[in-house]
Amino acid sequence: LQTSDVLARLGGAEFIVLLPEARDVADAMRALRKITGALKTPFIVEGIFLLVTMSAGIVLFPEHGTDGETLLRHVDMALHEAKESRKDACVYIQTHDLNTPERLKLLGELRYAMDRGELFLVYQPKINVHERCISGVEALVRWRHPERGVVPPDKFVYLAEQTGLVQHLTSWVLNAAIRQCHIWHQKGKFINVAVNLSVGNLQNIHLPNEVEELLRLHEVSPSSLELEITESIIMADPARAMDILTALRRLGVRLSIDDFGTGYSSLGYLRRLPVDQVKIDKSFVMDMAASEEDSVIVRSTIDLAHNLGLRVVAEGVETEGVLERLTGLGCDAAQGYYLSMPMEEEALMRWVSESPWGIKG
Ligand code: C2E
Ligand code: CA
Ligand code: CA
Repeated sequence: LQTSDVLARLGGAEFIVLLPEARDVADAMRALRKITGALKTPFIVEGIFLLVTMSAGIVLFPEHGTDGETLLRHVDMALHEAKESRKDACVYIQTHDLNTPERLKLLGELRYAMDRGELFLVYQPKINVHERCISGVEALVRWRHPERGVVPPDKFVYLAEQTGLVQHLTSWVLNAAIRQCHIWHQKGKFINVAVNLSVGNLQNIHLPNEVEELLRLHEVSPSSLELEITESIIMADPARAMDILTALRRLGVRLSIDDFGTGYSSLGYLRRLPVDQVKIDKSFVMDMAASEEDSVIVRSTIDLAHNLGLRVVAEGVETEGVLERLTGLGCDAAQGYYLSMPMEEEALMRWVSESPWGIKG
């Protein structure tokens, strides 16, 4: 960089480079090429070669914003776009903006959807492959929109995550899932329930209290609740996340690392977190039959996790062959379309009574 440039670390692995002398995108790209060039040389850490990859978002002052807050927000959107489209860099354009009228409208409607009863949960069974029974279900949120029909979570969870609304969304899901769990238990069906957390939830110091109160309110034992957390949620603010995870674990709630293998942390690092379980990402599991490489990743993840005392769940099990393979590799639990699609409550109850996978009695 030049002496007039400023390099700042925002947190985690996010850096900001200010180029006061750059006049246009071409100038910014030139600086970027120097940075990516410098990162091409592997770093040697304790004798291990490490390759670092990066993505960048680019914003121009004053075209893309005249204050720091707007520029940071826009550069974050450009960065998100670059990562999504697997490009080295993206320049901010209006359409990356989540604040398009259409998305703002959806976000506004989501605010009321919870009170209007438009959100609902579907449940996907997780099977304990050793005991051949249901080990629990994952609750997945859906939105029955009055005009759009059923909206899948990838259309609105990310939107909610960009605003404080995600706290309400998670509270809604937690309450609905824990209440349902109580109803099952009352009927003598001892099914555990898992809920996905979002980035933002692990920055909310009130979360453990809230979870504790919901469990007490619905008379559900903490060990019947599992929370699924991705690495990126933890890495957004590892110290804060660690405090909150520790408090949740102390309650007796079980924690699992979701989408394992898609992030960059080692199992060794994750083991230092108070987690019980890893869920191998479906992208590896789905291709296991076809790809030797994915097969090796799954096998070594299972072995490593077991050595570290963690349970392993494979998600995205779509065929009998993959299920057999996983059972052979000692995987503890499986989830996927081959076993069952996510279902609404009544369908789940039918599935439970008809499927060969019973509830552990
Ligand atoms: P996830 O936590 O990884 O959830 C698993 C997703 O994989 C679900 O999609 C599920 O329907 C799908 N899936 C299950 N089995 C298979 C399979 O065999 N093959 C394939 N190809 N896919 C399978 P869904 O329900 O659309 O959820 C997508 C994502 O949205 C979830 O990914 C999760 O990150 C997020 N999400 C869903 N519900 C919630 C929620 O209540 N709160 C939060 N924060 N996020 C949620
Ligand atoms: Ca999940
Ligand atoms: Ca997952």
